[in-house]
Amino acid sequence: MNLASWVERNGRRLRDRPALAEGTRVHATWAELAARVAAAAGGMRDELGLAPGDRVAIVMRNRPEYLEAQFAAWHAGLVAVPVNARLHREEIAYVLGHSGTQVVVTDEEHASDVEALVGSVASLRTVVVAPGPSWDALIGADPISLVDRGPDDAAWLFYTSGTTGQPKGATLTMGNLLMASLSYYADIGAIADHDSVLHAAPLSHGAGLYGLPHVAKGAVSVIPASGGLDGPELLELLERWPGMSFFAAPLMVRRLAGDPALRDADLTALKTIIYGGAPMYLADLEDALETFGPRLAQIYGQGETPMTITGLSKADHGDRDHPRWRERMQSVGFPRTDVEVRVFDDDDQPLPAGQEGEVVVRGRVVMAGYWNQPEATAETLRGGWLHTGDIGSFDDDGFLTLHDRSKDLIISGGMNIYPREVEEALLTHPQVEAVAVVGRPDPEWGESVVAFVVAGDPAPTEAELDQTCLDRIARFKRPKDYHFVDALPVNNYGKVLKRELRERLR
Ligand code: AMP
Repeated sequence: MNLASWVERNGRRLRDRPALAEGTRVHATWAELAARVAAAAGGMRDELGLAPGDRVAIVMRNRPEYLEAQFAAWHAGLVAVPVNARLHREEIAYVLGHSGTQVVVTDEEHASDVEALVGSVASLRTVVVAPGPSWDALIGADPISLVDRGPDDAAWLFYTSGTTGQPKGATLTMGNLLMASLSYYADIGAIADHDSVLHAAPLSHGAGLYGLPHVAKGAVSVIPASGGLDGPELLELLERWPGMSFFAAPLMVRRLAGDPALRDADLTALKTIIYGGAPMYLADLEDALETFGPRLAQIYGQGETPMTITGLSKADHGDRDHPRWRERMQSVGFPRTDVEVRVFDDDDQPLPAGQEGEVVVRGRVVMAGYWNQPEATAETLRGGWLHTGDIGSFDDDGFLTLHDRSKDLIISGGMNIYPREVEEALLTHPQVEAVAVVGRPDPEWGESVVAFVVAGDPAPTEAELDQTCLDRIARFKRPKDYHFVDALPVNNYGKVLKRELRERLR
């Protein structure tokens, strides 16, 4: 099925009820959203010359037009490529080029960056700026009927950075996204048409995925007017849009939990806060439970199996009398209804409870593969199991705890940073001979990026190294600290011992 049929159906059934809101203001009713989506789909096909299967990227901060563009692309049978708008222009260029994107829908803030790529990214033909005249022309085009899509048709290319340097596009099909949405109802909770979903985190990632089951059920999608979210704004939005759920990285949950405006506030209109994407410290979780009550649910997932591996339900969080409640709250929970989860050893053999190995997942939610990367796909999906790169172990009750990430991923402020990307950037400096980047535990950001640098003579200054990074990668990826060392610790194979570097930082 085509997921855009949800919008079409709600356009008939819920007509004048709100579908999209910016702050407390209604941006579109369901009838208006359905009409805009069908018209923009017509514009994409007839004015922009796109055919089913072609790629349309969305490079914009959260705003109502984001969701209009995404559903219009699906309505026309196109593949959406939601790009993290905080990436560096060169990183955005890579994603557009690799996915063969022909059209980008962007906003004023990113327009000049994206427009500058027409010509250098071979596939890129047209940039539409929303809101603005080019967007108005699109939503003013003649509507077309929904293009037929099957469960195996690509819907969303979810680009995630890889250990090999360049990001890979997890190809999420209509069937994958449908399964992720159904498993929300199975494990997190039911949704009704008088509910709301708040998009406080980027729509290109978890928030966008959790928005889908809400769209399906006719709940209103709300974009905070501030672009961020604090306690007073949340209270205002809760009053206007009750039955609210939202996805937040642990960092945001921690900030909100400490917001004085929320202490002792009436939160009956708040349904669920789904947190995940990075580890949550127990002390922070206890604070959050104190502020929000049993409204928290944790998920562990990754782009390759959209937000669906294991989870801790609201009931698990509320079950404080359970003798192993603390351990459970430090785990990533129990396998989701629609997947099988195992822990494998180095030979891909299943390990018993208590033993650490790589977490692997199988189920209808798992991606079709990496876009145009058959070797990486075969490696990651070998034996029919998605190899997550995360190291974990099950306990006797079937709860999974993560111990390490074999991919060396650093998660800082809810954003993923692969050390290799930062290392590659730093190595372009002529006075950097060798470099290793690791994450250091950070009470504010979860982890922060630290670089160990072997420098030539004269050694570069920290400011120069910062500039080298800023010229090539997103600002949030640059190291917070540099340690100049004579040599990096290596093993017999010459592989840098990152574990030892992490120990040094402790
Ligand atoms: P992404 O594909 O960008 O969503 O990143 C996925 C990675 O984030 C996973 O492979 C884990 O390493 C990490 N992650 C996701 N959810 C959790 C969680 N609940 N607790 C700890 N780490 C997580």
